[in-house]
Amino acid sequence: MAVKRKRKSPAVENEIINLTNVSKAYSTGAPALKDVNLHISRGEFVFIVGDSGSGKSTLIKLLLRELTISSGYINVMGYDLSKIKHRKIPKFRRNLGIVFQDFRLLKDRNVYENVAFAQRIIQKSNKEIKKNVPSILAIVGLAGKYKAKPRQLSGGEQQRVALARALVNQPTILLADEPTGNLDPKNSWEIMKLLEQINENGTTVIVVTHNREIVNAMQKRVVTLRRGVIISDEEKGGYIDED
Ligand code: ADP
Ligand code: MG
Repeated sequence: MAVKRKRKSPAVENEIINLTNVSKAYSTGAPALKDVNLHISRGEFVFIVGDSGSGKSTLIKLLLRELTISSGYINVMGYDLSKIKHRKIPKFRRNLGIVFQDFRLLKDRNVYENVAFAQRIIQKSNKEIKKNVPSILAIVGLAGKYKAKPRQLSGGEQQRVALARALVNQPTILLADEPTGNLDPKNSWEIMKLLEQINENGTTVIVVTHNREIVNAMQKRVVTLRRGVIISDEEKGGYIDED
């Protein structure tokens, strides 16, 4: 008989991410995250900010189940990530889109193929791919660039391809780890506006960033980490100056 997955009752309405007393220590050095409590509801837009080394990427990796917690409790989309079976991880990750600072595109494939690849992994039919890829490329403003290889694109365009690839499988949560870290101010704004638009269409969006100006202007929830501890978590927050 199948055993049902046990779930803890959600602490907030429509909770999609629950970290309760989470700590993460690597084998060397001080713990990267200490007693983190973070609850995110379906459909939220959250900035994660903090100095370099404060634990932002570690947090993203825990959410992806790329890393496991050292202690505490972590639940993402109903999956208890301390207990998830290895064979269930790919199914779990299908509901996550991820974007990195350095784009991570396939260098020898063109724009269309980079995005189509994400659909092939989840065995979408060619018919669906031919419908979905152009549609998402239009959303990110790359309708005329199907045939270009990554090296023929600007940084901003490459990040749009990465964003299209992250979105084409219609993830429940989009995670972005410093997505504008390699971009100029204009392209940074354009990518952030796209992330906002994606969020307005229902996707939960979590963005790690150092971009003080954008964080202050966008008036979203802001979670600030300092040396592995959440020192502030504010609705319509701003960038806290480190002293
Ligand atoms: P951020 O993304 O905010 O810059 P990280 O999460 O990458 O911070 O790192 C948090 C802390 O954990 C830092 O002190 C960093 O040196 C350490 N750290 C990160 N990854 C590893 C690792 N693989 N092994 C050991 N220590 C690590
Ligand atoms: Mg980082």
